[in-house]
Amino acid sequence: MNLGENPHDGRRTLPELRELLFLADHLHGLATVETLANLEYQDKAFPLLAMRFGPDDPTTPVLALFGGVHGLERIGSRVVTSYLQTLMELARWDRSTQRMLETTRLLLVPLVNPVGMMLNRRANGNSVDLMRNAPVEAEGLKGWHLFGGHRLSPRLAWYRGRRGAPMEAETQAICDFVRRELFQAEVAISVDVHSGYGIVDRLWFPYAKTRQPFAGLAEALALKQLLDRTYAHHVYRVEPQSREYLAHGDLWDYLYDEYRAAHPAGCFIPFTLELGSWAWVKKNWPQFFSLLGMFNPRLPHRERRILRRHVFLFDFLYRAVQSSSPWAYPEPPRRERLHHQGLELWYGS
Ligand SMILES: [Zn+2]
Repeated sequence: MNLGENPHDGRRTLPELRELLFLADHLHGLATVETLANLEYQDKAFPLLAMRFGPDDPTTPVLALFGGVHGLERIGSRVVTSYLQTLMELARWDRSTQRMLETTRLLLVPLVNPVGMMLNRRANGNSVDLMRNAPVEAEGLKGWHLFGGHRLSPRLAWYRGRRGAPMEAETQAICDFVRRELFQAEVAISVDVHSGYGIVDRLWFPYAKTRQPFAGLAEALALKQLLDRTYAHHVYRVEPQSREYLAHGDLWDYLYDEYRAAHPAGCFIPFTLELGSWAWVKKNWPQFFSLLGMFNPRLPHRERRILRRHVFLFDFLYRAVQSSSPWAYPEPPRRERLHHQGLELWYGS
């Protein structure tokens, strides 16, 4: 994809997108690159790109990674792009990666909201928060909870968009992509990488809309136990998002409910990886006074550490979708037991 000299090409103005396009140019024979949407802002155009490694068959197991849904959270996009780079190299020379890619897909959408990232804002070009934009109402979230999503004004953060309006182009493109690529898979895991909340790295599964238990609780706990056993010193706090806060319009709640209605016995866990950025701020107080600083590490050694830190998690999840028997589709007695353990662990019952 040649950047050319067109001054109206938004690709030129955003380093994260430039890097992605550079990598896309070198994926020939390793992965397919697809433009999920062509986004426009003022007189500039921005592609929403997806990369697919592995077979075309949508029923094969799949891990899908998403980043850059919130334009301020550049580090999430960089974490996914960095993994793309690693995978490109492994796919060239590592036989075990090549063998895994014969049967198991790995999809990457590293920059969902390029316009927001260019503008240094959380929302997209229409000032809509893409993670509050799905038609989902949270239960018991009343009054002035701006953070949980609102329809008051696009000038305020966490704006959901107008009531009854179609979803934003970015959100719609992700829904279409997930329906096409993940819904038919025998086993599917997605990870959407964010930053800006709390001190520890959290791996959230649904729901954001309710404190009611997630239907895939047994699988989520079995997978957490597998992670605990395989990497005893891992740093992630695995929990339902609702333990931290509730929100309207969560895209993953929306997609999960749709999936569940169509595939009541299926296995799909949409995770949100929330990088605990307050720890970086704590170690570097001037960062607190910078808008981007709240969501991104500012010192180069810290950024490098974060880019390295999550590679093993993505590797683990990729192995887990390929070798899913320890956690997916547990037999009824074990499922019951896991479900009850999950209720005790996460839902206080
Ligand atoms: Zn975010």
